[in-house]
Amino acid sequence: MLNIVLFGPPGAGKGTQSEKLINKYGLVHLSTGDIFRANIKGGTELGTLAKSYIDKGQLVPDEVTIGMLASEVNKNPNAKGFIFDGFPRTHAQAEALDALLSSINSTITMMLALEVEEDELRKRLLLRGKDSGRADDQNPEVIQNRINVYNNETTPVKHFYTKQSKYKGINGIGEIDTIFTNLCEAIEKK
Ligand code: ADP
Repeated sequence: MLNIVLFGPPGAGKGTQSEKLINKYGLVHLSTGDIFRANIKGGTELGTLAKSYIDKGQLVPDEVTIGMLASEVNKNPNAKGFIFDGFPRTHAQAEALDALLSSINSTITMMLALEVEEDELRKRLLLRGKDSGRADDQNPEVIQNRINVYNNETTPVKHFYTKQSKYKGINGIGEIDTIFTNLCEAIEKK
């Protein structure tokens, strides 16, 4: 299996690049943010719970997120591989993902991290808020909170994969197609 963790701060371009990668490599795209938003739209219990955190720019609790992700992986027993987009975001989630994949005799191939500095992120998110209507992209305080949560809680996940020699940083600034080419090169080298 080809299992990729696509990593990076909010607004780094994970969603955009995931779409291109799944088309090229035939992978299943699992975006925890997208799954939460679909649940919010559908008015599910999970959606109501997730919304109370997302609206404040906080992380949804690990046990909820991990349970949801596990059920999505198990819904795709014949997948050639997965792109994990927006997951894992905490050390506990990274541990849980390793355990989950080992239960299906698989493992993470690599973490690809899109690197973009904070000023650029704030600009991109506000622009996306105008286009997409995403409430969490329209409020500068919520945006800053997400960036802070990323710096404090999510950055350690980088070290988790660095220790396993699976981390690869990619410049997330520039043309979408150039970034995509660089991601593909990193995958093909592995
Ligand atoms: P972005 O990366 O642009 O902030 P996402 O769509 O990945 O957006 O996530 C939106 C929100 O969903 C996050 O701010 C967080 O509240 C919640 N969320 C997504 N993934 C996770 C996760 N793995 N763990 C906890 N909360 C998550």
